[in-house]
Amino acid sequence: MSEVEAQSHAFQADVARLLYLMVHSVYSDRDIFLRELLSNAADACEKLRYEALSNPALMAGEAPFSVKITIDKEAGKLSVEDNGIGMSAEELSDSLGTIARSGTRAFLDKLNAESAEGQPVGAELIGQFGIGFYAAFMVAEHVDVESRRAGSDEAHVWSSDGKGTFSIAPLALDQAPSRGTRVILTLNEGSKDYLEDYRIERIVREHSSALAIQIELIASPGAEPKVLSEGGALWEKPKSNITQEQYEELYHSISGQFDEPALTLHWRAEGRYEYTVLAFVPGSQPFDLFDPARKGHSKLYVRHVLIAPDADIMPRWLRFVSLVVDTADLPLNLSREMIQESPLFAAIKKGVTNRVLQELTKLAETDAAAFDKIWEHFSSVLKEGLYEDPERRDTLFKLARFPTSAFPEGKRTLADYVAGLKENQTAIYYLLGDDLKRLASSPQLEGFRARGIEVLLLPDPVDAFWVGTAAGFDGKPFKSVSQGVADIKSIPLKEGAPLPASEATSAGLASLFALMKQELADVVEDVRASDRLSESPACLIASETGLDRRLEQMLAQHGHANGISKPVLEVNPSHPLLTALAAHVGGQDKQAFADIVWLLFDEARLMEGEKPADAPKFADRLTRILVKAAGQPAA
Ligand code: ADP
Ligand code: MG
Repeated sequence: MSEVEAQSHAFQADVARLLYLMVHSVYSDRDIFLRELLSNAADACEKLRYEALSNPALMAGEAPFSVKITIDKEAGKLSVEDNGIGMSAEELSDSLGTIARSGTRAFLDKLNAESAEGQPVGAELIGQFGIGFYAAFMVAEHVDVESRRAGSDEAHVWSSDGKGTFSIAPLALDQAPSRGTRVILTLNEGSKDYLEDYRIERIVREHSSALAIQIELIASPGAEPKVLSEGGALWEKPKSNITQEQYEELYHSISGQFDEPALTLHWRAEGRYEYTVLAFVPGSQPFDLFDPARKGHSKLYVRHVLIAPDADIMPRWLRFVSLVVDTADLPLNLSREMIQESPLFAAIKKGVTNRVLQELTKLAETDAAAFDKIWEHFSSVLKEGLYEDPERRDTLFKLARFPTSAFPEGKRTLADYVAGLKENQTAIYYLLGDDLKRLASSPQLEGFRARGIEVLLLPDPVDAFWVGTAAGFDGKPFKSVSQGVADIKSIPLKEGAPLPASEATSAGLASLFALMKQELADVVEDVRASDRLSESPACLIASETGLDRRLEQMLAQHGHANGISKPVLEVNPSHPLLTALAAHVGGQDKQAFADIVWLLFDEARLMEGEKPADAPKFADRLTRILVKAAGQPAA
């Protein structure tokens, strides 16, 4: 068609940036461009297969689906052609002019973050994210996309050299694919090796042989096509005929992850409903695991037709699992919505969830190291299940591993914890926070350590939620060590442990506490002697009736609470500071007394990772006390 009819468009700013990167990429594994084009071609065929269910005319001609790669050495061109759904002019412009994929968006965000930090922009990120169509510009100086949408009698060509603009022009039907899309790459100087057929064969074998559509290679224009990959549903093949590489490839294509799966599960459910499942637990944390807009990676097939590329099969707390489910027990002519409401779909959801949990449990028993890796990557998500899915809470509790005061680096199960309960200990104690290291050195733990009582350390934000809703484990309630009266006196002290605070007696304490309480009336609910402390002078505790302080802070951050309630200041009366302070009661230096009381309070806040209540006042008080200390001769 004539140039006059071509419409020129500017790329969205982000695309332009991405393309610049592709064109100037020093990323060594440029082979991935072919993986991306083949995956788009296969997607296009699967989309047409689905649309044709309700509109069989779209498949007119009935040519079997295939993807053809053609090498034209003389012209220096490589093309990938499919007979899938195709794109209209508008779709060409929308799909190949903006950034639609969340993976590419995340890639750019990461790049922006890195360049903002002044680091050299890392091309090695490319392989991690999967850049999609734009990867073509790593190897091509010019790309034409000729496309004819199934059922349409118009065709268009999209063209770009990746430098800021693309054009779209009508294309004569006799030059266009009869249906589908032909992507023609004019290879750049450094990429002529992709004109070698053995090279293409190897890439297809390595990256794309698990695709559901047949792939053929035409080594020179007019040559006989050679089948490189049969296509077909990998999951329907007997396990013994599937190689680890094929599993891995399918995992890459459905998860968008390019690591090795940590767990591969392939089974056929039989009985009332029959379906085949191939599921993967990723080997690393997907970059968008906590992105609320994240799409699932569950594909639902009915008799090898992809019905829903993003079916709602896994519960939220197993959203890291990628899977394919294929069943023959559903009529193909049901809408996506009706399928998702069918009893079979409900049975699939339940069956798959149970099986995945069962396999994780088994792995935890047979290969602790492999399981620990999975737990490390996905515990924050799995723990959501503890409050979202009370029915499976007990199963999840069996999987859960926690650091504890006795094993801060360790991964203790609740069963281990309960097996180690101390004499008279009736509760499972925990401490919430946001930093494991600080939790491990919390003053609140001292009294528990003195009695050899283990405390779960819970630094993950999700912990505050499940621990508040779980009734208990193995008949033992969960109890926060930073809330209410500690009530651990009946548990015997370890031999040689320092005496916890409240057991020490001291005259005048009552009046000391009364004065402290008066001084701090605006910020604390009470001042009292502590069971918890044996070394530190003071700590903060939530009152018996309120929420755990950590949970309360988190709710407040999200605007869900009516402010933060006042904590209780627990002090250690046998600490030298408190003994000295008791001596001030009724003394002359009211300023010094107030300074010390406030500093004690702020110190307790600092130990919790909070800031002093009033920074300028804190600085004034500290300076006054330091001046006094500096003025005294060293002892
Ligand atoms: P993704 O495949 O993750 O959506 P891509 O960048 O690979 O991202 O492709 C962008 C979009 O372009 C696709 O979603 C699809 O709509 C369209 N597209 C790309 N290649 C083809 C093709 N061969 N046939 C039909 N549509 C295509
Ligand atoms: Mg793609």
